[in-house]
Amino acid sequence: MEHIVIIGNGISGVTAARHIRKLSDKRITIISAETEYFFSRTALMYIYMGHMKFEHTQPYENWFWEKNRIELKKGFVTHINDASKELVFANGETMQYDKLIIATGSKPNKFGWPGQDLEGVMGMYHKQDLETLEKFAPNNKVCKRAVIVGGGLIGIELAEMLQSRDIPVTFLVRESSFWNGVLPAGESAMINEHIREHHIDLRLGVNLQEIKADEHGKVKSIIIKETGEEIACDVVGLTAGVSPNVDFLKESNIELGRGVKVNRKLETNVKDIYAIGDCAEQQEAIGNRRPIEAVWYTGRMMGETVAQTICGNPKEYNPGHWFNSAKFLDIEYQTYGWVFGERGRPEYEQHFHWKHPKEHLCITIAFHKETHEFLGINTFGIRMRHHAFDKWLTEKRSVEYVLEHLADANFDPEFYKLHEKDIVAQFNQEHHTNIQLKKRSWKRIFQFS
Ligand SMILES: Cc1cc2nc3c(=O)[nH]c(=O)nc-3n(C[C@H](O)[C@H](O)[C@H](O)COP(=O)(O)OP(=O)(O)OC[C@H]3O[C@@H](n4cnc5c(N)ncnc54)[C@H](O)[C@@H]3O)c2cc1C
Repeated sequence: MEHIVIIGNGISGVTAARHIRKLSDKRITIISAETEYFFSRTALMYIYMGHMKFEHTQPYENWFWEKNRIELKKGFVTHINDASKELVFANGETMQYDKLIIATGSKPNKFGWPGQDLEGVMGMYHKQDLETLEKFAPNNKVCKRAVIVGGGLIGIELAEMLQSRDIPVTFLVRESSFWNGVLPAGESAMINEHIREHHIDLRLGVNLQEIKADEHGKVKSIIIKETGEEIACDVVGLTAGVSPNVDFLKESNIELGRGVKVNRKLETNVKDIYAIGDCAEQQEAIGNRRPIEAVWYTGRMMGETVAQTICGNPKEYNPGHWFNSAKFLDIEYQTYGWVFGERGRPEYEQHFHWKHPKEHLCITIAFHKETHEFLGINTFGIRMRHHAFDKWLTEKRSVEYVLEHLADANFDPEFYKLHEKDIVAQFNQEHHTNIQLKKRSWKRIFQFS
């Protein structure tokens, strides 16, 4: 029986295994060095914050794997010998495969900062990082201050986690405004304000120079490069992005860029070896998408796609329109289509920005400045219906059409105050138009999905 081996038990590897099982009777083994069972990485923060226990982050019961004949193997793969189709583990064991799927995810970036490997310095990616955080920052007596280096989505989660235990946080962000490589200026400014409202010591436009150790080799402070300021701290969280976890492949014949290079069928340059999820790098970017996409749902989609190919229905990875969601402390964020920040914004992309006068609610709609084609939307504090924007993007609707039907897209819970009228009124005023907001129609809403 053909043996499919998957390295990595994250969302992409596990999705591939589940779908291969649905489609075939092949022998399946999933290998992971991190945990015995699959868990939801995105829920890690809630364990530290006391909302969940680790077991609650495991979407499948422990009996699921045996029942579905998916073998689990704990171990770290150090080498792939593609000629003999053999994996070598850190403890010297070996395993044969017929087809191999590499789904090894990401690792936190480290940029060679002095002191980056001291005790009390950690990323926030693996379950082991959470255990380290629990050890060095159990409360504000043991950890009097934490410094977070790198202002992205994981950095702000870590800040929220530490705050939940009343641990003071200094947040070093290299950019002049939070996440402004991605967010337009108005939104980024709102997030700066929100972070500071939470009494987080946000330092913008600064870099880490060095992490200093005490006499026991544990972190005692950091130095800011631009000012030379020394900040005493007990924990340093390194959250300056992630990169594909592929170092163990450097000696192999598999072509690497930043990640494992794959074609649209998720095949590597080596026969019978595939790569999916955070560690995969598309040879050619798909539309405006980045060649490496470290998000949950694309890992799941790649897992489904590769399962089809492996089971004899060759399929190309086709992720559709870009979307994503996240949370900046109390503010929920969603994005559909493309809304570029200041950096890399195409010359044709025009923005309409609406912000609530008092609350942290705002939207930015991107549209083509000549054709008025709707290109994308960012929303903060207002929940929108994914299927609505997906359909409107596919249908290449105009910005005017989107505004007219905005009430259909709203997904806020019942009795939430609605803001579509104000949004449309501002657009009409700025653009000298006369768009009339249509009443929400359930008939139209049912046609979205
Ligand atoms: C704190 C946090 C919050 C996040 N929140 C969101 C969110 O809200 N929304 C979103 O879309 N995404 C979020 N992400 C990103 C998302 O979790 C990842 O994109 C996704 O988990 C990647 O899945 P994967 O299957 O590709 O890899 P992973 O989940 O990283 O799994 C890979 C596994 O392979 C193992 N492995 C690696 N190398 C080897 C080896 N040589 N031998 C054996 N095992 C190996 C690793 O230990 C790991 O267990 C978040 C990530 C983090 C860290």
